[in-house]
Amino acid sequence: MPSYRAPVEDFTFVFEDFLKVYDNKDLPGFDMLDPETVDAVLTGAGKVAEEVWAPANLPGDAEGCVLENGVVRTPSVYKDAYKAWAEGGWSSVGADPQWGGMGMPGIISSAVTEIGVSSNHALSMYFGLTGAAYSAIAGIAPQEMKEMYVPKMVSGEWCGTMNLTEPHCGTDLKLMRTKAEPQDDGTYRLTGTKIFISGGDHDLADNIIHMVIAKVPGEDGKLANDLSTVNFFLVPKFLVNPDGSLGERNGVSVGSIEKKMGIKGSATCVLNFENAVAWKLGGEPKVKKDADGKERKSSSAGMAGMFQMMNMARVGVGMQGMALASVAYQNAVEYTKERIQGRSLTGKKFPDQAADPIIVHPDVRRMLMTCKSFVEAGRAFTMYLNMEFAKARAGREDAKGDLGMLLTPVLKAYFTDMGFECTNMAMQCFGGHGFVHDNGMEQFVRDSRILPIYEGANGVQALDLVGRKLLGDGGKAYNDYVDLIESFLAENKDDAGVAIMAPALQRGLDDLKTATQWLFDNLAQNPENAGGVSASYLRIFGVVTLGFMWAGMAKSAQEALDSGDGRQSDDFYKAKLVCARFWAEQMMPETASHLMKMQGGAEVMMELTADQF
Ligand SMILES: Cc1cc2nc3c(=O)[nH]c(=O)nc-3n(C[C@H](O)[C@H](O)[C@H](O)COP(=O)(O)OP(=O)(O)OC[C@H]3O[C@@H](n4cnc5c(N)ncnc54)[C@H](O)[C@@H]3O)c2cc1C
Repeated sequence: MPSYRAPVEDFTFVFEDFLKVYDNKDLPGFDMLDPETVDAVLTGAGKVAEEVWAPANLPGDAEGCVLENGVVRTPSVYKDAYKAWAEGGWSSVGADPQWGGMGMPGIISSAVTEIGVSSNHALSMYFGLTGAAYSAIAGIAPQEMKEMYVPKMVSGEWCGTMNLTEPHCGTDLKLMRTKAEPQDDGTYRLTGTKIFISGGDHDLADNIIHMVIAKVPGEDGKLANDLSTVNFFLVPKFLVNPDGSLGERNGVSVGSIEKKMGIKGSATCVLNFENAVAWKLGGEPKVKKDADGKERKSSSAGMAGMFQMMNMARVGVGMQGMALASVAYQNAVEYTKERIQGRSLTGKKFPDQAADPIIVHPDVRRMLMTCKSFVEAGRAFTMYLNMEFAKARAGREDAKGDLGMLLTPVLKAYFTDMGFECTNMAMQCFGGHGFVHDNGMEQFVRDSRILPIYEGANGVQALDLVGRKLLGDGGKAYNDYVDLIESFLAENKDDAGVAIMAPALQRGLDDLKTATQWLFDNLAQNPENAGGVSASYLRIFGVVTLGFMWAGMAKSAQEALDSGDGRQSDDFYKAKLVCARFWAEQMMPETASHLMKMQGGAEVMMELTADQF
């Protein structure tokens, strides 16, 4: 059975050496952070993850979820594990204290989330979606609704879901058919079918609060063919009485649950809404006039709340890629130190054994290094972005404006592609023993395969990067980002740590600039170029971004080694420098090949007729 150890030392390095979190007391919630408190949170969550959640992962996968008499039963090992996390307060680390949370900044709650996902991805889904749902309610619902729902969701007594997808409507939400009809009392009645709803029903919580998007019919009773009448609704499984107790069952039922490749302990449900009582969140869309005088409806507060929930979820899903790569890597390291096969190419390393452990082989190390250097830079980037979100919220002068928005699709898509690649490599380290169920490695691969699909498939994330995030503001956020990296390289041109990465990072950045210019030069003449090259463009962005992280971390590691003041061992810091070199030598060159692919454009992809495939 696989095991898990919370990477507390690495979090500590990121917080203290790299991001200097404790020098930022002015940021919201950062005043409550000190090394002892943060250690206590990470080791506390880590203990439940290591001792309760990780042991429930393999049995949860084997047992899966079942639908019995209209009710979903989760794996039997989940009940106590769910309780242990909720009662320990690990699901509410980042929630506002007025709702019963600890009120810690996102940088800490993200670390706890990573620990949860690594130890048990499927189980963590119930908390992840609940967090997204209660954040939306706390953000945009009227006060009495916040008071009615949020504290019970923060405590884990109730759960939440996110309902977008319908049978005929996945990526293209305009096709949605679920309708919400207004009632005289201000509520709505919601009718339609949503599919693939994670945690749509289960036996872990007393009530489930569904956050649903649906269309309000026009005066002719018809649904518009666009997003103009789409709104965001709250639909509880059980209606809630004014005193907070549970009332009658609402018109929501489970049609079926999916039999699927991975995350088998996470119930993926078809939900049928039949005249379900629903409350609309947020106000009406404002009507604005374009420069050409055309009227255009802006998003309502409800839709803005939904987009906020989706953005949070995208960052969360990206992080899941890194978290699964992390646990798969940990297990691969243990195995490759024990499994003996063949001899080192430079002569026997363990002459008293029949063979050397497979960690002596360069190809095995290539796989381990890919995982290690992705996971550690990925963790650093997640925390870096969290700091940027906090700076932006605080309106601090050094906040990098739209960096978070620009990089959200990169985080979602690059991290989940790499998450799958790394779980695969970690499984490969086990040879045939990785392919069998009981070692748990094939489960990590299966579980990670959903990540590039849900929360907006990765192809669509790449289009979002090119279409909205790059071109949407005429390249402003992108230019700011390039300036940021170039300024960092210029300011640190004599730094011994940064020097490890600097030439490769500069080459990668030059490739990114050439790629961006290519997009500006080639999209107008053939719009299909955007779709044909965006995946490569996003990959270049991802590789450069983690190269930037490695340059920063190499600087911090070198400083700690030079000063001797760091909290970690010299070996720990030296390993950081080696990983930076690995990223420079083995990963950065990817930018050149992806640039070449982009320069071919989309033409060859569009050449065949559909019948020729
Ligand atoms: C296990 C699981 C859990 C899920 N949980 C939830 C949940 O909790 N709530 C929820 O609402 N949904 C959920 N989903 C749904 C998920 O978000 C969708 O599956 C996903 O958004 C893709 O939609 P689709 O499956 O209909 O694929 P399609 O939209 O049919 O897309 C198929 C392929 O075509 C590509 N494609 C589609 N349109 C374009 C385009 N315009 N340009 C380029 N490429 C395109 C896509 O990238 C994709 O590769 C879940 C799905 C699964 C499998």
